[in-house]
Amino acid sequence: MDCITFNKDIDAFIHDRLDDDELNDFLNHLKNCRGCAEELEVNYIVQEGIIRLEDKHASLNLASAHRHNLKNYQEYMVTRKRLMILSNIFRTLTFWVLAGTALVYIRILILGY
Ligand SMILES: [Zn+2]
Repeated sequence: MDCITFNKDIDAFIHDRLDDDELNDFLNHLKNCRGCAEELEVNYIVQEGIIRLEDKHASLNLASAHRHNLKNYQEYMVTRKRLMILSNIFRTLTFWVLAGTALVYIRILILGY
């Protein structure tokens, strides 16, 4: 992802409208681009600040809320990657168990034992 795409996606990120692949690209760019990280933080603080001004009980520590929000998204992506790896392992195991079962069944049909 380049900086132009990142900046186009900031609004979608803040409003939780990026799909998982877009979110992954967005977070990867964020790690390596200080300028875009600052742009995101400013956008988040302004947009979230406007929303929270209407709620008299909401915290206005927006920089902390932004960091917390980013940490949650990063943890979500790590968990998602782990689940994808586990899913691939189970899919592979299932394939080999079914293939082994089919071979045993064919052997029984052909040899009778
Ligand atoms: Zn950038």
